[in-house]
Amino acid sequence: MQGMDTSCGGGTKSLESASTACDSLIGLERGDLARALAAVGEPPFRARQIWHWIYYRGARDFASMTTLSKDLRLRLAAQFQIDRPAVGSEQLSEDGTRKWLLRFADGNQAETVFIPEEDRGALCVSSQVGCTLTCKFCHTGTQRLVRNLSAAEIVGQVLVARDSYGEWPTPRGERLLSNIVLMGMGEPLFNYDNVAAALRIVMDPEGIAISRRRITLSTSGVVPMIRRVGAELGVKLAISLHAVTDELRDSLVPINRKYPIAELLRACREYPGADNARRITFEYVMLKDVNDSPADAKALARLVAGIPAKFNLIPFNPWPGAPFECSTEDAMRGFARILNSAGYTAPLRTPRGRDIMAACGQLRSASERERLSRMKARLAAGIVDDVHHPTAAA
Ligand code: SAH
Ligand code: SF4
Repeated sequence: MQGMDTSCGGGTKSLESASTACDSLIGLERGDLARALAAVGEPPFRARQIWHWIYYRGARDFASMTTLSKDLRLRLAAQFQIDRPAVGSEQLSEDGTRKWLLRFADGNQAETVFIPEEDRGALCVSSQVGCTLTCKFCHTGTQRLVRNLSAAEIVGQVLVARDSYGEWPTPRGERLLSNIVLMGMGEPLFNYDNVAAALRIVMDPEGIAISRRRITLSTSGVVPMIRRVGAELGVKLAISLHAVTDELRDSLVPINRKYPIAELLRACREYPGADNARRITFEYVMLKDVNDSPADAKALARLVAGIPAKFNLIPFNPWPGAPFECSTEDAMRGFARILNSAGYTAPLRTPRGRDIMAACGQLRSASERERLSRMKARLAAGIVDDVHHPTAAA
């Protein structure tokens, strides 16, 4: 099937090397996939067949879709592609955490991290290149270059991870890649449409089949969108709270100025389906002498009263130039104890993948790091540059 002249990409190519100039079928929801195929004369059942190949069997090219005729495979390859994002680099931490730097068709990059646990594992997926928000403690928030990831690029992260662990076809029983957390780069609710499409694809029981109970979306608090997540997706919710007063949260998590704590908690109280089995997680980054006092812990327990809640205490993960330090062990344990005695689960998360800069809040594309170090070198050499000093607008 090699070397056939095709219209897609305008040149000679084989089935195995679909051109990126073709329309991608990845990231299209079922209805859109059927429409794309109908546009080239294919009947509705074709969408189901191809869906099965892409999302259940993990096919990486049309050539391997052996239930389709050779002629059809060639025609599809001439018009469409199902390429994954390119893997720029892959790093393995000593604790088993794996980080991929993915490069998309336009050269932009984002990171994806897999965190294995004993009997399962969570894939930490990015929703944007960088982040438009500028939470003071977050490395991603210091990245200047930002764009939304497409649904294809979000689903592509899951496909790459599944490829890497060989989890095709979708395992029926236990699987390594069992959970998804939208806690990578970016604010998922600033890219709602693409995130929602990607999640619907990932949740589809005839494909990747990761249920909404195993998906957690983390947000800094885009209140109106939280309502949509509840009504349209029903995945689990994690809220990056990090402070108990608006004054402090305004400075740590600047979106708080738009949607203050009381509004955010109201949206949590109204979140459908939150019960003891599906509690809302409140993330709280432990910052030394900033938000880690016993009084803060007590206020935190009072704030969430009435919400089926649990806490995720995240030791602050430092990055070069960060304006904070992590709380002491004693302060963190004391903080957790107070929440526990108020009746809440509050595990102190052990940071994973610190040695490969894969821990929470450390993600930031390598290209951006390289750009910054080049800039620093130019500054050191006395060449003026427009240095971007990312701060919360406090
Ligand atoms: N934008 C979303 C999801 C990505 S951030 C959000 O903010 O929720 C995922 C989690 O990592 C958030 O709780 C975030 O506050 C936290 N985080 C960011 N930087 C961190 C750091 N340096 N150390 C520890 N946690 C951090
Ligand atoms: Fe963006 Fe989340 Fe980082 Fe804030 S913590 S800058 S919302 S990625």
